[in-house]
Parts: sequence; C-alpha cells; structure tokens
Amino acid sequence: GEDIVPGTGKRRLGVMGGTFDPVHHGHLVAASEVAARFHLDEVVFVPAGQPWQKSHKQVSPAEDRYLMTVIATASNPQFSVSRIDIDRGGKTYTIDTLRELAEANPDTDLFFITGADALSQILSWRNTEELFSLAHFIGVTRPGHALADPGLPQGGVSLVEVPALAISSTGCRARVERGDPVWYLVPDGVVRYINKRALYRRDAEGDARA
Ligand code: ATP
Ligand code: MG
Repeated sequence: GEDIVPGTGKRRLGVMGGTFDPVHHGHLVAASEVAARFHLDEVVFVPAGQPWQKSHKQVSPAEDRYLMTVIATASNPQFSVSRIDIDRGGKTYTIDTLRELAEANPDTDLFFITGADALSQILSWRNTEELFSLAHFIGVTRPGHALADPGLPQGGVSLVEVPALAISSTGCRARVERGDPVWYLVPDGVVRYINKRALYRRDAEGDARA
C-alpha cells in the first residue's frame, strides 16, 4: 500500500479507541487495514473507562470490555490492549489518552484511528489543536456514515476506505438481547465470553440496557 504520511524513521503506533461493548470485526478490520496501509508497527486498542459521549447509557463493566478486547486481539502479534483509560478512572477523553500514550512512548509517531461517525463529531471534542499535535488522525469508512474531512487542520487527518462491515456494538447487544446469534460478527472467543458472563441479557442481574 501507499505510505500516505511520510516516514520519519520513528516507531509508528496506531491507537484504536472505543467502548468495545463488545469489540467486533468492524473494529478489527479497521485496525488491520490501517496498520497495513500506514505501515504501523503496532496498534494498541484502548477501551474507554466511562465514555463521555455515552454517560446517559449503561455501559458494561470495564473489566468485561477489557477482557473481550484482549480475547479478540490476542492472536495478532501487531495488536495490543492498554488499560490506561480504564485505570485512570472517570470519564475518558481522547486528549488524556493521547497525552499519556505520547509520554509513555517517546520517539513514536501516534496514529489515532476513528470511524466516520466519530470523525464527524471530532470538532466537538476537547482541545482539538493539541489533539492534532499529538497524533495523526485517520478516519475510516463505516457503512451508514459519510466520511468527510470536517474542516481539520491541513495534513492533520487522512481518510481511508476499509472493507465495509455493517456491524455495530449496539446491533450486537440488541441481537444478544433478542436471542439472535452474533457468531461471525464478533470473534468466537468473544461470543463465548458474552455467554459465559451473560452480558446484554435483559434479565441479567436485573439491568436492562437501552
Ligand atoms: P456503539 O454502537 O456502542 O457505539 P460501535 O460499534 O460504534 O459501538 P465503538 O466502540 O463506539 O463501536 O467504536 C470504536 C471506534 O471504532 C469508533 O471510532 C468507531 O467509529 C469505529 N467503528 C466501529 N464499528 C466500525 C465499523 N463497522 N467500521 C468502521 N469503523 C468502526
Ligand atoms: Mg460507537
């Protein structure tokens, strides 16, 4: 593939932020495709502590989301999972994630991977100027969402077409709640983990999810 962003000789670390409730093949394909296209050395998945956009909804326990992400990525030597957002506590802001990753990874270029839906909200995020100084942003296509540069700083963002997977965590949760299968939408180990922990069941521990 083409190396759209010129190489600097530094280590190239992709950052895939998300709620991952649950992680699904849309996340994994996006990370894999961007890693190949941008010659990334590694992609670190960073499950949100409490996602600030989703505080009105109920989100599964951080440990469950973390473990599902570990299960989904374990077999790929280029993928890893970070606990930084979970361990920081409180609401997760991408600026904190990137500051911490930049500090922990000197001589590394960061590439923040985001789907078209999240990219379109990007200007509503905190500290946009510092965000773009900390990482190069990569917006990936997602079925049902228009991928457009929402007026970002020149050269601060790349738009990348990835194989279209019309999968969302919301859809997966709804399927489990209805008793429909999520096989082949999420990795096999994640299906088994969802069943083992009885996640997304309306009756599970009495917590219905919106
Ligand atoms: P939810 O429905 O709960 O919001 P989600 O499927 O959108 O879940 P998130 O954890 O919110 O998953 O997404 C993490 C990141 O992955 C976001 O940048 C999102 O845009 C991107 N993403 C999620 N699903 C896809 C997909 N099918 N194709 C491309 N990008 C995706
Ligand atoms: Mg989402």
